[in-house]
Amino acid sequence: MTTMPSVQFDADIVSKLSMSGPRYTSYPTADRFTTDFGYGDYLEALAGLTYRGGRRPLSLYLHVPFCDRLCYYCACNKIITKDRSKAATYLGYLKQETAMQGKLFAGMNRVEQLHFGGGTPTYFSDAQMAGLMAHLRRHFDFAPDDEGEYSIEIDPRTVDPQRIHSLRAQGFNRVSLGVQDFDADVQKAVNRIQPYEETMAVMNAARDAAFRSISVDLIYGLPKQTMQTMEETLSKIIVANPDRIALYNYAHMPHLFKPQRRISESDLPAATAKLGMLALCISRLTVAGYVYIGMDHFARPEDDLAVAQRQGRLHRNFQGYSTHAETDLVACGVSAISAVNGTYSQNEKTLDAYYAKLDAGKLPIVRGHRLDNDDLLRRFVIQRLMCNFELSLASVAQGMAVPFKEYFAPELKELGAFVADGLVTLEDDWLTVTPKGRLLIRNVCMVFDRHLRQARLQAAAMPAAAAATQPLRYSRTI
Ligand code: SF4
Repeated sequence: MTTMPSVQFDADIVSKLSMSGPRYTSYPTADRFTTDFGYGDYLEALAGLTYRGGRRPLSLYLHVPFCDRLCYYCACNKIITKDRSKAATYLGYLKQETAMQGKLFAGMNRVEQLHFGGGTPTYFSDAQMAGLMAHLRRHFDFAPDDEGEYSIEIDPRTVDPQRIHSLRAQGFNRVSLGVQDFDADVQKAVNRIQPYEETMAVMNAARDAAFRSISVDLIYGLPKQTMQTMEETLSKIIVANPDRIALYNYAHMPHLFKPQRRISESDLPAATAKLGMLALCISRLTVAGYVYIGMDHFARPEDDLAVAQRQGRLHRNFQGYSTHAETDLVACGVSAISAVNGTYSQNEKTLDAYYAKLDAGKLPIVRGHRLDNDDLLRRFVIQRLMCNFELSLASVAQGMAVPFKEYFAPELKELGAFVADGLVTLEDDWLTVTPKGRLLIRNVCMVFDRHLRQARLQAAAMPAAAAATQPLRYSRTI
């Protein structure tokens, strides 16, 4: 039996359509949030949830911003310090914030998903993490281990096998390991020296400790990377056999991310070489049996993500793809973004401002967005396309009570170019993204992004000189 490939690489189309665009971990995207939305609006959204007798499970996110050393490619919100006392201070505030949220959600605080991201979550010591997990359990009602997804991002340079067993005992059942590339020259060029043996020891420990899913992050397009180094890294990863692989495109945007200025542009692979690497990754991973989930993600066919996708239950939030659809997301820590009852709210981005609001007895929300009916509709459409690569126009029309073809007439017209390129089909009331179009799913979703459309119209109305000085805000779609 021949099976349809989950994704197909077409160099001409990819080169033609690669442009800068959002990653749609949220819709509207975070750059649309404003300071018109604050703490009071968040409380109002929560009151609406209580009024409706909110019984949706929660997803909890905790952000730990500290890292020991700087990776030059980094685009995350982090603080590089070796001063561990900073972590102790931060931990105190994080506990205060989670306790406040726990109180607000009293009676509707069942947690089915927990994710620690950063920065480096394992910057906290073993004892600090144990204390924090116990604290969270006092303020939230966690689903049992076999029902909940409890994950943590791990920098293998910061842990030993013993620590991995500790994390499992503390309640984590999924890990995501930062690998990026195994080549020594590439590691040197990005200031992230991480021997292969060290990473494998951590991965093996995670298996021994019975973590349910092990994910690794790779990046293509880094300085000093070649087809040869990529080939070798892929071979090692395939032997290591993680359940999931996230393959990120390195976006060199030194005007936005200062650490990237330390990367010498002459060391970066050319655009065509980068596309060659992407094609190589896709071919090696799919031949090795991985399913393309979407965006940058691959998974073993038996992994929960792949199963959820086959069953149409896949969801996407700020942490990427997820199997738990109907949750409100409560995010704690500096710069973290919550998504509760049709609103987004982001915390203060600097430690000082974050601490000051908590000292004043308030949640440290600085900005956000309340979704209107149009946002909710478009979020639904973008989510479905990102997760399932198809959309039943009739079911949207029915479920959201809008005549799809009339409401989205300009969008359907714009999709005509994608139909002509064989990236999507529009038949029998179904919009389907073809295997060739899947790598360009961001481009397809951008068609439905009203805020982006408005921003483009505004830019088009600007004098050329002013438009040229507008910063490029998004990474390239491929
Ligand atoms: S890439 Fe990760 S570990 Fe490296 S500096 Fe950024 S947040 Fe820290």
